Amino acid sequence: MQNFRYVGKNLFIEKLSIKNFLKKQKTPFYIYSENQIVTNFLKFKNTFKKTNPLICFAAKSNSNLNILRVLGKLGAGADVVSGGELLKALKAGIKAKKIVFSGVGKTEEELKIAINKNILLINCESESEAKLVNSLAKKLRKKVSIGFRLNPNIDAKTHKNISTGKAENKFGLSIKSFKIFLKKINSLKNINLDALSVHIGSQILNDAPFKKTLNVMSKLIKELRLNLKYVDLGGGFGINYTNKEKPINLNKYSKLVENFSKKLNCKIIFEPGRSIIGNTGLLISKVQFIKKGANKNFIILDAGMNDFMRPALYDAFHQIIPVSKNSAKTKGKIEFVGPICESTCKFGIYKNYQRINENDFIAITNVGAYGSSLSSNYNTRPLIAEILINKNKLRYIRKKQNLLKLISS
Ligand SMILES: *Cc1c(COP(=O)(O)O)cnc(C)c1O
Repeated sequence: MQNFRYVGKNLFIEKLSIKNFLKKQKTPFYIYSENQIVTNFLKFKNTFKKTNPLICFAAKSNSNLNILRVLGKLGAGADVVSGGELLKALKAGIKAKKIVFSGVGKTEEELKIAINKNILLINCESESEAKLVNSLAKKLRKKVSIGFRLNPNIDAKTHKNISTGKAENKFGLSIKSFKIFLKKINSLKNINLDALSVHIGSQILNDAPFKKTLNVMSKLIKELRLNLKYVDLGGGFGINYTNKEKPINLNKYSKLVENFSKKLNCKIIFEPGRSIIGNTGLLISKVQFIKKGANKNFIILDAGMNDFMRPALYDAFHQIIPVSKNSAKTKGKIEFVGPICESTCKFGIYKNYQRINENDFIAITNVGAYGSSLSSNYNTRPLIAEILINKNKLRYIRKKQNLLKLISS
């Protein structure tokens, strides 16, 4: 990929040599390519150009204010799942009329923020939630636009921990329950059902589940003669974490979406997260120690599962590459692990890796989505710095958290 490449032996992000940068910057830290963010967004937009959807970036995949700002400037809206994300999206300059609010357990406080800010849609996930929105809207003397998230009972064929559209998952309302709810909706005078939404899972590499979902939605909307302003088709588009995988190809799907949108005469909303931000970031870490194990050597990094949780949480694979290449080989197996006191704080086993020494630097790749946003203070470790690169210019978009502040409570 253009924005991440080796020049000679050294890894560059855009025009910045990471090796040189490491003379000034302590590890671990996240570093992102702005050009890659822009490229990904415009590519997505272009794929669906004939449909002209509202593209609401899933803020939970990376909620850094500056990253939201970059996307907002390109015309992105935001899909938020908490009051905090909602306020952050607004602070980043994203207009309220481009914000949709998802989530199964929105609180009264969060819903009040959404209603007061006049966001585009509150995507309700239960009858109780819709009733609560109605009663809050009544108190605030407003009429609120809602969407209903359906659970289409479709297998996204992805990791079970990131599948969200099957009947066994907590997300959305079954079609049966939705039909029952629809009979009562007229009594809820302060809400308008303007949209239906679906989001069947994440890291989906094949377009078949998306096509199926589109069919289910199309049938249902016709059957119920719903007159919708929007259909929100969610996110979930997969990326390649290794060279063997292929990112999802959305060209055929985009034609179906175009027809769907025309026939139903509704605006399409998408909520991509990973496909916009996943491949834009690296986590740079130092080899603290190397320790001999029974049948492999442990490469102990200064980045831990608190900084980057995906491998521990979903067994996710992220290729680890050296900041500086060499042509020597380590014998046998090595395992990259972090310092956290959990056995799941580990990042992958490799054979025939290049020679690796203490104080060497490595990059964990494709960490832009669900990397920083999933990080925590576990083991009382400060959140690490985040840096955004544009050509050879760099910006600290989050400073490393202050340790003294962190230990104050
Ligand atoms: C997480 C989430 C998304 C984004 O999913 P990606 O796989 O990152 O594209 C979109 N919509 C909803 C409702 C989500 O919960």
